[in-house]
Amino acid sequence: MTDEHSHSHSKEIDPWSSELPADQSKLFHEFGLEEISDAMRKRFASSHLFKKRIILAHRDLTQWIKAADDGKQVAVMSGIKPSGEFHLGSKQTAEEIVFFQQAFKAKVFYCIADLEAHVDNGLSLDECKANAIGNVADLLALGIDADNTYFYRQSLEPRVTTMAYKLSRRVTPAMLTAIYGDKPLSLYMAVLTQMGDILLPQHKDFGGPKHVLVPVGLDQDPHIRLCRDLAFKEKLILPSSTYHKFIKNLKGEAKMSKRDPDAMIWLSEDLNSVKKKFMRSLTGGRNTAEEQRRDGGDIANCVAYDLFSTHFEHDEKKLVQRYSDCTSGKILCGECKTQMAETMLAWMKKHQETRAKMMKKAEKIIEMQEE
Ligand code: SF4
Repeated sequence: MTDEHSHSHSKEIDPWSSELPADQSKLFHEFGLEEISDAMRKRFASSHLFKKRIILAHRDLTQWIKAADDGKQVAVMSGIKPSGEFHLGSKQTAEEIVFFQQAFKAKVFYCIADLEAHVDNGLSLDECKANAIGNVADLLALGIDADNTYFYRQSLEPRVTTMAYKLSRRVTPAMLTAIYGDKPLSLYMAVLTQMGDILLPQHKDFGGPKHVLVPVGLDQDPHIRLCRDLAFKEKLILPSSTYHKFIKNLKGEAKMSKRDPDAMIWLSEDLNSVKKKFMRSLTGGRNTAEEQRRDGGDIANCVAYDLFSTHFEHDEKKLVQRYSDCTSGKILCGECKTQMAETMLAWMKKHQETRAKMMKKAEKIIEMQEE
């Protein structure tokens, strides 16, 4: 991470907070991110992630794609803190991983950050393992190719911890405080461990230096910048990254995160509970039915529609129809939400069935490292 000026701004985006900075595009420019070009969007038009501008910006994605197009081995790095179940935010990241894996035959490195969950959330490593099995089952159900993925638990991957140790020579407490604020040492250690995770695909055991793509949210950019800096010093290839938009939570707040369980939807959640939450979610409905019939709904501020169109409806024609029905006042929120809930619950039901079938395989994957 060569952006030396990045640190002075980085307090504006805190990877541990659920707040979204007000002006995303201003931040893109400030941090030197590139917006996804029209050419790229066109090339990947078959993916709803590009088409719907869910993936908004990147660093060095062009170089990553070029390496893949040139027939070089490329990798995607991602992971999860196994402190709970997958929610819609984790679903979105998983879809990004699966897209890049399929489109470029990229090898996926998927980290179960159990050390982090242990230190940060106080979960035992066994509890982390149980959660991890569910998380991997979700990933399998979402289409990840297990034969081209290296799943690992941080606590059982000495190459990561060794790398973190090695990287610690290059980092001073002042650097970390400038980026993350004054935090307990455990958090700084977690950061270094994450750096070890991101650089793991470039370890000699995995074929040495290569282009690695890390799909993240904008709030994770401080990690990426630090990691690029360290990769440069270690004479490795600077990792590339993509940045996705945040989905609002059901209350319309900036980011769906595990910190507010009532405002988010879990992939393994009971369908009645999902329906209830969705029906209660914020809409762009007007004060009275009469007003809505006259002025139409305020769809730009409708959380229910945002969630639905991001995750559950990829048929453009149907979305355009709903958009026009809403903004012309033809449909009111109750009826509209009931229709959206139906599509959403059908997807969830199917996903849960597939996930249940994947549990055995997920268990095997997670236990493989113990052998
Ligand atoms: Fe949202 Fe549908 Fe209401 Fe429009 S009619 S504001 S899309 S819930």
